[in-house]
Amino acid sequence: MIGPPGAGKGTQARLLSGRFGVPQISTGDMLREAQQARTPLGREAQRFMDEGRLVPDDVVIGIVDRRLRNGDVVGGFILDGFPRTVAQAEALDAILARGGATLDRAVAIDVPRAELVERLAGRQVCRSCGTMYHRTLDPPTTPGTCDRCLGQLYQRDDDREEVIERRLDQLAKEVAPVADYYRRASLLRRVDGTGSREQVLGRITASLAA
Ligand code: AMP
Repeated sequence: MIGPPGAGKGTQARLLSGRFGVPQISTGDMLREAQQARTPLGREAQRFMDEGRLVPDDVVIGIVDRRLRNGDVVGGFILDGFPRTVAQAEALDAILARGGATLDRAVAIDVPRAELVERLAGRQVCRSCGTMYHRTLDPPTTPGTCDRCLGQLYQRDDDREEVIERRLDQLAKEVAPVADYYRRASLLRRVDGTGSREQVLGRITASLAA
């Protein structure tokens, strides 16, 4: 799944993961876990993430390489937020080739910029289970509390408005070459990311078969 922050990559990857029974592999989630656990990797990634910049390729590629050695990926997997650079896309090809696997599809979710800013600035995440909410567009039943696990909701540091603008600029520059990379390999499917999550899921599922 590729696309700017706020396009719904995480939400859609989770829905697809449930539908197809394959793991969702999110580099953003893995980096945030490393940060919370205060591992050396987490500390290294923190300063990039707090400023809305991409974490260096070798760090992220290392994480994905280790994750794809886990036995649960043999029946398939959904990568969410990776690759974000051409170097990462090339490294992914090499990692998959080592296991005799190939990528089936690259799905790019398109959402207009003004809507992305609105979505990100109101986003709240459950500290315990990672479920996403939006203060006005998709609020929890009780403000500040997760409907699914009663965990506490918080705003990610990189969802502050001044950081959002930088993340979106960064992504506009970085994501286009990755989309091109997969367009050339005939793997790219572009999906309209506006509307309800069910509508978007329907478009993605249709695009996977196309
Ligand atoms: P996300 O949750 O996908 O929006 O990612 C949050 C932050 O983690 C990004 O703004 C980056 O700083 C970092 N990050 C996640 N995935 C990658 C990646 N594939 N390459 C570089 N940085 C990443």
